Amino acid sequence: MADTSYLQWPFLDDHHRRLASQVDAWAAHHLRDAHGDDVDTVCRQLVQQLGQAGLLTHAIAGKAYGGQGDSIDTRAICLLRETLARYSGLADFAFAMQGLGSGAISLAGTPEQKQRYLPRVAKGEAIAAFAISEPNAGSDVAALTCHAQVEGDEVILNGQKTWISNGGIADFYVVFARTGEAPGSRGISAFIVDADTPGLEIAERIDVIAPHPLARLQFSNCRIPLEQRIGAPGEGFKIAMRTLDVFRTSVAAAALGFARRALDEAQARATTRKMFNQTLADFQLTQARLAEMATTIDSAALLTYRAAWLRDQGNTITREAAMAKLTATEGAQKVIDAAVQMWGGLGVVSEQPVERLYREIRALRIYEGASEVQQLIIARELLKQFKG
Ligand SMILES: Cc1cc2nc3c(=O)[nH]c(=O)nc-3n(C[C@H](O)[C@H](O)[C@H](O)COP(=O)(O)OP(=O)(O)OC[C@H]3O[C@@H](n4cnc5c(N)ncnc54)[C@H](O)[C@@H]3O)c2cc1C
Repeated sequence: MADTSYLQWPFLDDHHRRLASQVDAWAAHHLRDAHGDDVDTVCRQLVQQLGQAGLLTHAIAGKAYGGQGDSIDTRAICLLRETLARYSGLADFAFAMQGLGSGAISLAGTPEQKQRYLPRVAKGEAIAAFAISEPNAGSDVAALTCHAQVEGDEVILNGQKTWISNGGIADFYVVFARTGEAPGSRGISAFIVDADTPGLEIAERIDVIAPHPLARLQFSNCRIPLEQRIGAPGEGFKIAMRTLDVFRTSVAAAALGFARRALDEAQARATTRKMFNQTLADFQLTQARLAEMATTIDSAALLTYRAAWLRDQGNTITREAAMAKLTATEGAQKVIDAAVQMWGGLGVVSEQPVERLYREIRALRIYEGASEVQQLIIARELLKQFKG
């Protein structure tokens, strides 16, 4: 049985508690651990299912555009991701990408852009993607070189994006490209590019250890209307960071979901596996391990919901989001590894829940800012206080 006592914490409101139990009931009924090999089809179906269930209304902002509220409810997004991740990594992925892929539009789009894209995202009728990383600009994302040149009322995009989740199945991509108003991060703008725009090509599909749609994109004289720019020229990096403030915290929540599932699986196995005339859970070594796992999960949950709550109160959460992501993803990796160990040989059999979790968690320590990047962010924020 999953531990839901954290739902009583003061970071959450009653509507969050109701949402968590609704999503849990929906997920128990609709989601399966194993999905088969065709991740494109499965992801398209999951987006439709999430849309039909009304859950994607939490991924966007603006009641007028089909959202639950006029601003993004970070705690709702975290609860959704945590719960979906407990049941299915791909369902969490499908939900998260609708939010991350459309986040820049929710936060900084024009009313026309919102009207055109957000209602379809919220209904699961359009699949969204977020394209900032490049082969030579990952952690150092401000070094991106994909170029956007304004010509009259058009923009011409040239360059590459890589590691793009939903690449190949997305209906539109929010692309961050260099427009050159100033050096580095101040010379980047954000654009919405429909997937069928001539000059945008899926150059390569990328297979990863926990498969999901992922691709490298090539832009070759790809022309889009200037009205597809999100926000002011040169504001793209700020818009990307505002989007990541929400979704980085939600990566921590997804890691929590994986870790909670691993603890459930570990307890189930430890209390039933007979050995040496007792069960695995009767050994104090096992009990110590279970205690560590539960404490790691609670520490991560406290940091995650603190960050989400602070953001929902209107605060900047650069430090808190980084602490939550670092602690939750690194902690979940340890919790899941301990669960695999308790399952013994069965723990490494393909598609066993703990084996799947072991693969699912790995990329979370790398994307949306690797753990080392989070450490640097936390230290920078700390040192700022001393330097004044
Ligand atoms: C599964 C997956 C999905 C993704 N989805 C998307 C997406 O949808 N959209 C998108 O735009 N991008 C996406 N990414 C890209 C992701 O954000 C980058 O992979 C990430 O930012 C790291 O960049 P990199 O891979 O180029 O690694 P690098 O930048 O080469 O970093 C390699 C390693 O160096 C270390 N490191 C980095 N900086 C420092 C430092 N300052 N000091 C010490 N060590 C450091 C870290 O351990 C890091 O993992 C995805 C990546 C993966 C793996």
